[in-house]
Amino acid sequence: MVTRSAHHVHTAYVDGIDTVFEMAEAAEKAGFLSLGFSEHSIQVVDPFYGLSPETALSYRQDVLEAREKYSGKLSIYLGMELDVFAAPLPFPIDYHLAAKHYLTHESEHIPVDGNFKDVERLARELGGWVPLCSRYFDEFADHIERCRPDIIAHFDLPAKWNEDGRHYDESDPKYLQAGFDALSRMAATGALLEVNTGAIARGYRSSPYPSLPFLKFWRSLGGRVILGSDCHDARCIVTGYELSETLMREAGYSCAVRLGVHDLFEEYLL
Ligand SMILES: [Zn+2]
Ligand SMILES: [Zn+2]
Repeated sequence: MVTRSAHHVHTAYVDGIDTVFEMAEAAEKAGFLSLGFSEHSIQVVDPFYGLSPETALSYRQDVLEAREKYSGKLSIYLGMELDVFAAPLPFPIDYHLAAKHYLTHESEHIPVDGNFKDVERLARELGGWVPLCSRYFDEFADHIERCRPDIIAHFDLPAKWNEDGRHYDESDPKYLQAGFDALSRMAATGALLEVNTGAIARGYRSSPYPSLPFLKFWRSLGGRVILGSDCHDARCIVTGYELSETLMREAGYSCAVRLGVHDLFEEYLL
């Protein structure tokens, strides 16, 4: 494990189980150099899965306090995970992590990582899983072009449900092409692509997002990557890191990006 950093971390303020301080303690124990908090930002569609205007202020306060507390030992950053439906930020942050969780169909906003039955129904109504994913990729690229974040979160999120190809073939040329088209548009923004192990920690997947063909394609575009655990439980802060580092090397990467000790981002050798 050479990464020693995490940029995608949640807390009990929304859907994590630990406090900011418990997460910082876990990161320090894991030998991290840096840690970034990326709580779900205030959002208009599904307020339960976002900070409120009040908790946003407490979250910021906690992160700034933790930064003081761990000064000289662990570099702590204030980030936010911004969904398509995120409200304007109430204060400046260190970095933006952009995610797409919802697909909208007949005025219903369905989280693609939410209730499986709803996602399965949506796939049926859209003509299958590949059309669902193609639409997801295309709209995600729209989001990235619009908000120009620092980091792109969990690129192929609908694959959460597709361990062992149980719903669709991830080597289907139409599926791959839709992903490649979206990645090409995203790469033009200069954003970092996240390698995200969250579905491994939660038992849905045995490999990280994005899949290896997408990671290889991103490499061919000259895109840079950052590894994170989308951590909702301090015990899982490095789950899947070793495997992901191996896959990143397999995709042709000899270095990746992490939150830096002094600068926001720094490169390191894999
Ligand atoms: Zn997310
Ligand atoms: Zn997240």
